[in-house]
Amino acid sequence: MSRLVVVSNRVALPDSSQNGGLATALDAALKEAGGLWFGWSGKVARGHSGELHRTSAEGIDYLTIDLSREDYEGYYNGFSNRTLWPLLHFRLDLVDYNATTQAAYRGVNALFAEHLAREVRDDDVVWIHDYHLLPLAQELRRRGVRARLGFFLHVPFPSADIIAGLPHHEKTFGALAAYDLVGFQTERDLERFQDYIRLFRGGQVVDRGQLREQDGRCFRANAFPIGIDARGLSALAGNAMRIASVRRLQSSLGSRALAIGVDRLDYSKGLPERFRAFERFLDRHPDQHGRLTYLQIAPVSRGGVASYRALRQELEQFAGHINGGHADPDWTPVRYVNRTYPHATLTGFYRLARIGLVTPLRDGMNLVAKEFVAAQDPEDPGALVLSIFAGAARELDGALLINPFDSDGVADAISTALKMPVEARRERWQSMMTRICDYDIHAWRKDFLRSLEHARD
Ligand code: ADP
Repeated sequence: MSRLVVVSNRVALPDSSQNGGLATALDAALKEAGGLWFGWSGKVARGHSGELHRTSAEGIDYLTIDLSREDYEGYYNGFSNRTLWPLLHFRLDLVDYNATTQAAYRGVNALFAEHLAREVRDDDVVWIHDYHLLPLAQELRRRGVRARLGFFLHVPFPSADIIAGLPHHEKTFGALAAYDLVGFQTERDLERFQDYIRLFRGGQVVDRGQLREQDGRCFRANAFPIGIDARGLSALAGNAMRIASVRRLQSSLGSRALAIGVDRLDYSKGLPERFRAFERFLDRHPDQHGRLTYLQIAPVSRGGVASYRALRQELEQFAGHINGGHADPDWTPVRYVNRTYPHATLTGFYRLARIGLVTPLRDGMNLVAKEFVAAQDPEDPGALVLSIFAGAARELDGALLINPFDSDGVADAISTALKMPVEARRERWQSMMTRICDYDIHAWRKDFLRSLEHARD
């Protein structure tokens, strides 16, 4: 078995309590084959980028690098979060392009490559993650790295016409052809990528998994829908009533049903649209008045970016507006919380909910949708209201699928979920649970790594 090298913007160090499912899966893969995890340390240095920190635990080496303030602003806050994130989520209107941050992005990728080239051996398998590092393979190849290089995009891949809105897009997206294997969340993302390669690089789709460049070089691209640790989360949820905050939430609800949303405060998550739909539900279903409480947990994210600050303000006003118009002295329809919780607590919250609201305008996968399913009580599971624009909708056929832009449709789905008999909920839940257990986070990483090992066969 080849040694594995994982590269991601942030490294999940072994002592961090915040490590989620992906970190656990990558850790397990690194432990199996022995390996190295490389990425930004999360530290912003006073002077230049480049100071390295090396540590190891349980057979895994961790190598992290500090970034200068300038690189952090340009590469991370700038090109990654202000340019690529909105572009990849189909929001050309929010794309903030400038040549300086683009150069910083390229510079940090080159810096990563400079250090990695000294570490990577020819027979290693290198797995690079997400939109921060699109051109890394190209930079590594320039430095003579011959190892197999794989890339997984955790976010959506938009249509070629949207990508074309980014000035000099070929420099960033054309660089994906330097990998041996490029992985996407869904078949649709894969098709849009194939379309981009055809249109803008004159490439050809040779067969379902293989693309040929104009110069004849071939590389692979495929869909690998990311999973979660479904059995682990289900067990956590089964024990979550031991957690005081879960018990307090339950007793605060009384006999009322709970609808829950859990999302980073991000414009891709469709939160104002969801609030609007919930208000529509209250307007259109006076018979349900006082019977449902909607808890929205939305930890603040990327507070340094103006569009995120504006969204936060909008939601605060909206929650106040809905409660002002609909609340009773003993019932608050919307509970709006900007905190993060340990995973065990979240699973308990999910399990208490009759309805899970997952209504992003665009999402690569949306892990919350899968976590909600895993956390349900098999005897009395809640119903999932899920956006057709989340990658998860391709797998979770037991959800009530909605268009998040259609507030009447979402309001109706909330009402349907609330009235759904337990037999129907069980049947829908069972088919979703089977899927997320069959192709869980470990099946996903094994599938990707097997494909990468054989990418050149
Ligand atoms: P994204 O990666 O865009 O944030 P996902 O739904 O794919 O969206 O993943 C979000 C992850 O963050 C999930 O694992 C979810 O449990 C976690 N998360 C979201 N909100 C919170 C919160 N308030 N506290 C703790 N974890 C959270």
